[in-house]
Amino acid sequence: MEADIIHEGFSKSIQQHGLVYAYFLADGDSSTYCRIKDVYVGITVQKIECINHVLRNLNTKLRNIASNAVKRRYISKEERSLPRAESRFKRIGLAVQRACRYYKDLGNWECNWKDLREDIRNVPYHIFGRHTNCKSYFQCSKKGQEEDLVDQLKSTPLFLEVVDAIDRVASLARSLIRRENSNIVECYFSVCAKYLEGKRKNLGSGSLYHQRISAATLSFNNAKFWAADFYKMIHCKSPCAKWKLEKLRSVRQRHQPTNTRKPRIISFPFLKAGRGDDHYGTNPDRPDLNEETLQVEMDSIRDSVKVTKERQEEIQIATQDQSNSDL
Ligand SMILES: [Zn+2]
Repeated sequence: MEADIIHEGFSKSIQQHGLVYAYFLADGDSSTYCRIKDVYVGITVQKIECINHVLRNLNTKLRNIASNAVKRRYISKEERSLPRAESRFKRIGLAVQRACRYYKDLGNWECNWKDLREDIRNVPYHIFGRHTNCKSYFQCSKKGQEEDLVDQLKSTPLFLEVVDAIDRVASLARSLIRRENSNIVECYFSVCAKYLEGKRKNLGSGSLYHQRISAATLSFNNAKFWAADFYKMIHCKSPCAKWKLEKLRSVRQRHQPTNTRKPRIISFPFLKAGRGDDHYGTNPDRPDLNEETLQVEMDSIRDSVKVTKERQEEIQIATQDQSNSDL
């Protein structure tokens, strides 16, 4: 149903508003994106991933690694006992965010996303003490003082899982460089849900639904009641005095200092019992990579398996016995 609503919105955008929606900001729901990708003739709608959802998924994966809840590999207790494991894992998300912030400010996103991708792929090496490929903006304060654990860890399931999780984030660099999120939509829908009194009541008949959505929109955009300015614009006369007083009260209330909530503390349960959620896989459906991103990923894999001519001959000789070969 959600896909149908979004598809209808996109397909009527030119007719209703004279606009083409060139970008679609979402949180990884590929079935919706596939429906609207080619809705305009000659224009492909681009998908932008919400950075908050990407980081939340990354943290979920890291939490699963920390509690040995990944399905493909077994992460031993020894690996999970590595020094300052929890603080290292906390630095992963921060490092990704720092890289995204740096490249967003740098501009020229159409070219720089490739550098962002490389910097994100370097994050596992940075957090495990190898700073050789860290750019200066990372300000690796622990450079030189920290032990380089990469050689010791690089073939362990823990390191491989961290690299896999980071590689998935890096493949979204083209979106992440924009640092867009869907917060405003989530906030708006929370106001809609308040006016609709939840999802269970049948408020779809007649014009009830539209009236409530209009009230939610005005409330979200302006104040906690229907704004006087709109009333005047529509009816060409001022609303009553009581209405104006309510507006003043609301504006005053909005400018009152509010208690800011403390940020949620993210923890990684190393060496504590934990299980993943059976209903969510580690690899949810995603749309196909676009051609340029696919080419970069393919080149990267090709480079990673490239060997010298001499090594090629050695491998050829060593694998002549096929399944009986030790290689
Ligand atoms: Zn570093």
